[in-house]
Amino acid sequence: MFSAGKMLSTCKKFGLAARRRKFASLFLTLLLGGFAASSPPAFALFYGFNQQAQSYQHEGESLVQSGNYEQAVSAYTQAINLLPYDAVQGRADAYFGRAIANDVAGHFDQATQDYGWSRDYYLKAAQYASYGGNSADSGLNGGYDSQIGQELVNLVRWRATVNPRSSDYMEDAGPMKLWDLRKMPLKVFIDDSQESGWSSDLRDLIWRAINCWTNVSGSPVRFTTWNSASGADYIVTRPTAGGQIAVGSGGYTSGVDEPSEPNMLKQSKSLLSCRGYDGNYYSQEDKNLLYNLALHECGHALGMGGHSPSGQDIMYWKAPIFKLSDRDGNTIRRMYQGR
Ligand SMILES: [Zn+2]
Repeated sequence: MFSAGKMLSTCKKFGLAARRRKFASLFLTLLLGGFAASSPPAFALFYGFNQQAQSYQHEGESLVQSGNYEQAVSAYTQAINLLPYDAVQGRADAYFGRAIANDVAGHFDQATQDYGWSRDYYLKAAQYASYGGNSADSGLNGGYDSQIGQELVNLVRWRATVNPRSSDYMEDAGPMKLWDLRKMPLKVFIDDSQESGWSSDLRDLIWRAINCWTNVSGSPVRFTTWNSASGADYIVTRPTAGGQIAVGSGGYTSGVDEPSEPNMLKQSKSLLSCRGYDGNYYSQEDKNLLYNLALHECGHALGMGGHSPSGQDIMYWKAPIFKLSDRDGNTIRRMYQGR
């Protein structure tokens, strides 16, 4: 969210609106995929030697990526049914995956339930790790489990207060900041340097993504390209060191306020985690992920401090989608209405 004073939101895809978070489920795949790839579990906590459960988990992840959300829910359900009760890490991951699939499919209540189960299993996994299972052999990562468990505590609490079915998420994704419309078109610098930017094909991809926000009917948002960070309103770069984006997050957006107007933005800056400078080393999936992230972080750069509770919106914390929803459009329009 906007911290008092200067910073706008820190998008993380793992955070929450309650303070803010990331990886779209694509990102999720990266995250959880990281787990799945870790060394073979020595005991039941992870997948309990249950290769079948693990393959259902992976199937769920690819089904979300390919937009087959109902089928993804079924695949995750299969994984859950196959996992022993003490496979706490595997169950935490499977419920987490199913929560997102349910949210994107529009089954918000089931998603909330799944987030609750996932929360409990992550916290349990963190507890187990603290008993000594936190070694390379166990496949447990107590620090991560504890962090995501806490995120989910906040997420579940927040979900009880929001309405994913309203016509926009103005109230749910606050606090909002705004750009003075006299500054339109906003000058956008997409970094082109080897160390913190992208080759031209990837800059085009990012440019296309952020321009989706200008295509909303009735939205006054306009962008123009700018050749350097100096004088730019919105700067998009790649992280140059670890720690610039929170663990589990795909992006981070910060904002600077106009000196005399704390709710007006003077500049926004997004960091997008990705494979690197050169598009030749990107798979289609990597490109999709970067596009999705650019689209999402741009929403923060335009002034949205938090996240939508609906998995069908780009401003959902783990949105796997590639276009703005009606609610995304309604929200940006309402933010700038009458400005
Ligand atoms: Zn975000």
